[in-house]
Order: sequence, then C-alpha cells, then structure tokens
Amino acid sequence: MTRTVVGVDIGNSTTEASAATIAPDGTVRFCGAALTPTTGIKGTPKNVDGVAAAVARALDVAGLAFADLDVVLLNEATPVISGLAMETITETIITESTMIGHDPRTPGGRGLGVGVTVAFDDLAEIAMDAGTIVVVPKGVDFEVAARAINAATQRGVRVTGAILGNDDAVLVVNRLDAVIPVIDEVSRIDAVPLGMLAAVEVAGPGQSIRTLSNAYGLATIFELDAAATRVVSPVARALTGNRSAVVVRTPAGDVADRTIPAGALELTGERKRATVDVSRGAVEIMAAVERVSPLADVTGEAGTNTGGMIANVRQSMADLSNHAVADVHIQDLLAVDTFVPQEVRGGVAGEVALENAVALAAMVRTRESGMRAVADAVRQRLHAAGACDVEVVVGGVEAEMAVLGALTTPGTDKPLVVLDLGGGSTDAALIEAAGDIDAVHLAGAGDLVTKLIDAELGLDNLELAEDIKRYPLGKAESFFHVRLENGTVQFFEKPLPATAFARVVTLAEHSMSPIPTRHSIDRIRVVRRAAKERVFVVNALRALRTIAPGGDLRQIGFVVLLGGCALDFEIPELIADALAPYGIVCGTGNVRGSEGPRNAVATGLVASHAQLVGSAVGT
Ligand code: ADP
Ligand code: MG
Repeated sequence: MTRTVVGVDIGNSTTEASAATIAPDGTVRFCGAALTPTTGIKGTPKNVDGVAAAVARALDVAGLAFADLDVVLLNEATPVISGLAMETITETIITESTMIGHDPRTPGGRGLGVGVTVAFDDLAEIAMDAGTIVVVPKGVDFEVAARAINAATQRGVRVTGAILGNDDAVLVVNRLDAVIPVIDEVSRIDAVPLGMLAAVEVAGPGQSIRTLSNAYGLATIFELDAAATRVVSPVARALTGNRSAVVVRTPAGDVADRTIPAGALELTGERKRATVDVSRGAVEIMAAVERVSPLADVTGEAGTNTGGMIANVRQSMADLSNHAVADVHIQDLLAVDTFVPQEVRGGVAGEVALENAVALAAMVRTRESGMRAVADAVRQRLHAAGACDVEVVVGGVEAEMAVLGALTTPGTDKPLVVLDLGGGSTDAALIEAAGDIDAVHLAGAGDLVTKLIDAELGLDNLELAEDIKRYPLGKAESFFHVRLENGTVQFFEKPLPATAFARVVTLAEHSMSPIPTRHSIDRIRVVRRAAKERVFVVNALRALRTIAPGGDLRQIGFVVLLGGCALDFEIPELIADALAPYGIVCGTGNVRGSEGPRNAVATGLVASHAQLVGSAVGT
C-alpha cells in the first residue's frame, strides 16, 4: 500500500517539512514542502506547535488530508545549541574636561584652526595677533556671534575656529567675512576649558578629517614628544572617519585608552589545555581553540567579565534545555573581534569612541536530545488533528540526512561536503566516495552576523540589523528614486515615504526600512560584509580543515551550501571566493532540483525511510 510520510527537520530557527508518498516498492514521490519558525528551543516539547504547523502546510500543498498521514519522521537533532555573548575590552576615558572628537550633524565652514580657547564675552579684549578659538555659549544668537567674530577679525585678531553650544554652525559661517571651521551642538559648552590650546577641523562635504585623526598631526599641532604622542594616539583613533572634530589639550587632562581587564578563558581540550586572555583578541583565542581541539569544555576566569560571560551562556543553555549546569559543556567557541561605539566617559558633548570588543559564540552539547518527548507530543497533537493512525519516528543522524538531501542537488557527487549555514551553528558533513560520513558542528552563524551588525552600527535594534544583513542598501535621493549600493538607480511611481528621504535604506522586495543613523552607505556595507566574512568564511575554513581527509582541502571535490544563510545574497559568494584557491566546486544547494538550500534534512529523512521500505520488499 502506498504510504504518506512527512519528514520534519527541527532547526534552531526554522522547522522544515517535506511531504511524500512512498509506493510499496520504495519509489518516492515528493509532493509538498513547507517551513515555519521553530517554536521553543530545538529538542523540547514546545517544538510541537511549529512541527504541527509545518506538517499541516506541507500536506495542504500536497493536496493530502491529515487522515491520509501514515508516518512523520523527525530528525534525531544533534543536542547542540548555541549562545552568544559580547564584551568590550577597551574603554576611552577623558579626565578633566578635555574635549575630543565631537562630530555634530552639521558642522560649518572648513579647514583646520589652531588657537587658544577664549570665552565669547572676552573676544573684544583679545590681543591682536593671538590665534583664537572662540567658545560661544548656548544663549548667543547666530547674528550676534557672527558680528562679534567679524569685528574681532577686523581688529586683527586671528579667529581660527569656533565652538558653539547652539546648532548654528552653518548660519554663523554664512555670515562670516572669512571661512573658519565651526563645530556646534556641544551640549556642555560650559565645560570646554578656556585658555587652552585647541584645534578645530572640519572637512569638506563627503570627506573626513585628516589632521586630528592622525597621531602625528596631533603631535605637530600640540608640539608633543614621543611619549606624549603615544598618550594621545587613542584620540586620533577615536576621530578616524569623522567629518569634523575638536581637540582641546589641557595640561593635566588626558584621554586614556584603557584595556579593561577582561579575564581569561580556560580551554579544556580532550587532550590539551590552554589559557588565553580575552583582551588578546579573536586571532589568539581562535589559535588556542585550534591548538587544544577537539574542545571538551570552556570556563572563564572567576570574578572577571569573561567568567561572567561564559557562566551566562552556560546558565541560559541549561535553563533552555532543562539540564543541570554541570551537564552543559561548551564544545566549540568562535571569537570575533568587533568595534562598538560607546559614549566616552568624561566627554562634554556626548563624544563617542569605537571601543574594541570580542563577541563569542558558544556551542553547547547537552547530555541527550529530548526528541523522544517531542515525538510523543507530536503524535498526540496530530492524533487530535485527525491523523488517527500516524506513527512518529525519530531517526536518522542529522548530518547523514543532510548529506542524503544535498546529494539530490543536480550536478553533485561524492566525495562531497555539506555546509549548513543556520541561525546558531555552522554544521558541516563530509561523505567520502565509499559512503562514510563525518560531521562537525561549529559555533557561530546567522544570528551572530546579525548581532555584530547591530553592535558595530550601534543600532540596538536586532530586527533592523536582520534587514541590513538580508537586503542590499540604497539611498533615497529624491521622492521618486533610490540609488542602490551598486550605483544603479531604481525609480518609483508613487512617492517614497518622507521618513526614507535622504536616508540610507534597506531594500526588501516589497518594503523599505530607513536606517536611522548617520552612517554612510559605504560604512554600513563594509560592516555588513565584514561581519559575514568573519563568521562564515572563518567557519567554512574551520569546518573544512576539520573534516577534510588529512585536513587537506584539496581532497574535497564539491561543497554544497544549505540552510537559511545560503539564501543570503552575498554569503555564498564570499565562501566560494575563499574556497576557489583549493579547486573546490562550491555553490548553493538545490535540494531535489527545486527546493533551493532548504529542506535537505527533511528530504533525507524521507529518502532514507523509502530505502528501508524498498529493501523490506526486496527481502
Ligand atoms: P536553523 O537550521 O538553525 O533552523 P536556518 O537554516 O533556518 O536555521 O537559518 C537561519 C538563518 O538564516 C538566520 O540567521 C536568518 O537570518 C537566515 N536567513 C533566513 N532566510 C534568509 C534569507 N532569505 N536571506 C538571508 N538570510 C536568511
Ligand atoms: Mg538547519
């Protein structure tokens, strides 16, 4: 009798289902596929809602009823779940009221001005030839400010720049006889130290400052020796890429770039151990991980940020999976260097510096998978829905099923590597010519990319970060056209929303989300691509080095990319570029020639079940 089966793959993010009928001789006919977001943590009974929804939809697409359903096949999910943490490891502190790096939205004028800071009220009494940077408090009208500066200039005072409390820079500059650089919107203008040597720099439109963002530029202006130059170099770094900046040098005041004692990671491998300080950065952490691999567990130094970070990951994984903390072991770790914009401590105008941070993704192996319980719950639910005789079978190692499914991609052959680019983990499986399968599960995937984009752009909005990850950028140059990031133009018949005008936007198929920051389109693009590279290119190479025969990438013929992130518009090409030197054919999978990189595991489950049915007939 022909049987109706649905293969179901419960992933960390997505539950995928493939419906098929299997003839008594084992011939499979796939007739419907569906996917829904996974409900609850993979491997827990909360998955039932998602599974029931996916099964119902796949049957619906196939034109089959619940009553026809004979078997549901669930994957024996690898009991690994992933967690993320991020820790800043540097901190910029301004002592005294030195001011650095303010970059208002609309500075005025242009050029570099060096002089002594002078209160606006004292401008009339300044000696003639002194280089002067005038500090104009909030209450002063722009007409008044401009008139006073012009008067001083006429008297022979060299007014080289201005710092304003109001948001008036452009209005003031438009009324000046000579163009000087002007910075405005300094919220605590009263805290700007007076009588100190200062420099104001404003770059032309579309340009960034050149002198104050260069350590030797600062050294030249402020006549610093080598030791003092070393001290101010974080100032220069913090100003890189700004269109405008101001630096006031006070004798005792300082800007310090402090490394926060982040603490050490203790890596326990199956044979070796290593300790590495988190503030050493991702490269050293990953070198240590590779040295001790295979990893058995990781702990963080007690009483440090790192200790807290690792303890949090472990605790949340324990809570989610209902295991004791002692049963939760970290079996892979991916560290990524990142920068996060943070308000500078001690600043007077909300100055922001990019601080170094390390993001960690951890892969946790729990004691056992809870798939039996999930299967029982699924059977009850499907029974209630009218599938009276349904049998729910847990079977098939995830990696093997993924390989079986991937091999239905036209043009593939063994030996082949499947790279499943998911939300929480990057999973790889190798099938050798003889059919032996080897697999590895690495920490870090799509969710980490989203988190990096969110942190580096200072968005604090994961939904927007997800949009930035998935869609190309554009800039709404008029109400009827958008300049895309590749330089081409897209026209619209209806006017664009006013919120999008002159903004960088993400371009989804049917919607447009403005990105409410001042980042340029280029900067957002660079951040987006770098995040993808640092997670997926790094993980692809790590995975292949681990499973390639003899660790030799040249032994691998084909790499098939699967999972949600294989749908990304640039991740597959970033990986393919990185693998090209090894002569590997790499592309996005097309499961059954129709499903794209989706549904591989669900397809594999059905195919392997059909083989069993077929061979049962044969005996
Ligand atoms: P899992 O196997 O862990 O359930 P998925 O294979 O569903 O995960 O992959 C989830 C990841 O794929 C998420 O990071 C999500 O952002 C990403 N993703 C899903 N759809 C797309 C898409 N169309 N374009 C780019 N990325 C996508
Ligand atoms: Mg998956």
